[in-house]
Amino acid sequence: MKLDKVFKNNEAWIKDKLAVDSNYFENLGKGQNPELLYIGCSDSRVTAEELMGAKPGEVFVHRNIANMVISIDLNVMSVVNYAVDHLRVNHVIVCGHYACGGVKAAMQSADLGILNPWLRNIRDVYRIHKLELNSIEDEEKKYDRLVELNVKEQCVNLIKTAAVQKAYRDRGLQVHGWVFDVHTGKLIDLEINFEKYLKDIMEIYHLD
Ligand SMILES: [Zn+2]
Repeated sequence: MKLDKVFKNNEAWIKDKLAVDSNYFENLGKGQNPELLYIGCSDSRVTAEELMGAKPGEVFVHRNIANMVISIDLNVMSVVNYAVDHLRVNHVIVCGHYACGGVKAAMQSADLGILNPWLRNIRDVYRIHKLELNSIEDEEKKYDRLVELNVKEQCVNLIKTAAVQKAYRDRGLQVHGWVFDVHTGKLIDLEINFEKYLKDIMEIYHLD
C-alpha cells in the first residue's frame, strides 16, 4: 500500500459517497450514535467495520494486540467508559481471530521486550485453562482454543468493570465474545453465557 494511493483512494471514496447522498458528510459531521462497541485485534487482516459491513457512525472501535481488556490499560478502559457511559452502546463485543500473532507469541518462550507484560496477560489465560489446553495434542487446535479462551477471559474482564455492571443493571447491556476465522472470513459467535459469567463474577467483583 503506497501512501499516494491512500489519498487517491480517499478522493474516490468521497466522490462515491457524494454520488449517492450529497449531504453524506454534512450528516456525518452532526455526531455519532453507535449501538456497538467492538474491541478487536490490531491485525491488518481483521478489518472491524468491513467484516461486519458496518457504516461510519455505527460501531465504536478499539483495537490492540490480541484484543485485550486489561484493567490498568488507561486506553481500553477509557474507550469502554466513554462508549458505555456516554455513547450508551448496548452491546460490547470482544472479537478475537484465529492465526493471531499475539496469541501465538504468548504460546512461545521468547523474550519480546516491551511486549512481555502485554503478552503475560495471555499467558495468564493459558495458566487458568492449562488443564484443557494441555489435553489438546494438535498444536493448531490448541492455538485456536487459546484464541477462543482469550476472548472469553477478556469478556470476563469487561464484566468486572463498574461501567458494564451499571449499564447491564440500568438498560440490559450485553457482552459478546466473537472469533473471526481469517481462513474463511466467517465471524463466529462463541455464545458466551453472559448472565452466568456476570452472576459468577458479581460474587467477587460486585462494584455497584
Ligand atoms: Zn491478532
